[in-house]
Amino acid sequence: MRDFSDLYAEIIMDHQKHPRNFGTLPIFDKEVQMTNSSCGDQISLQVKFEDGKIKDIKFMGIGCAISMASASVMTEIVKGMDVKEAKKISGEFIEMVTNGKEPADDLKDARAFSGVNKYPMRVKCATLAWHAIQKALSD
Ligand code: ZN
Repeated sequence: MRDFSDLYAEIIMDHQKHPRNFGTLPIFDKEVQMTNSSCGDQISLQVKFEDGKIKDIKFMGIGCAISMASASVMTEIVKGMDVKEAKKISGEFIEMVTNGKEPADDLKDARAFSGVNKYPMRVKCATLAWHAIQKALSD
């Protein structure tokens, strides 16, 4: 029987190999670029809003497996969400990875990153995309 950590590793690997929502949008309302200098990860995020919701979202980037998989999972989760809800969930993710907080159920596949808390060097990799979406939603 597989344990949770195997399942989580599989989710991360799958998103790294087959990133969701990778690319650029023809029309977008917000673009955010962020880098994690401690690892060299770079992400560019484009967001299209409609009726207070994230209508579409895509990312481009280069970086380590954790940063790219985390960006892929993030876009999958927030796509179609209310802006308010997306702000809440990105805060939950950052709390979980940074402070080792118990993962909330609505984080779905993103719970796979809960173990990253044990590797301080990787925390910035896992949270990069989530800080980017928070910035895109903030102003
Ligand atoms: Zn990294």
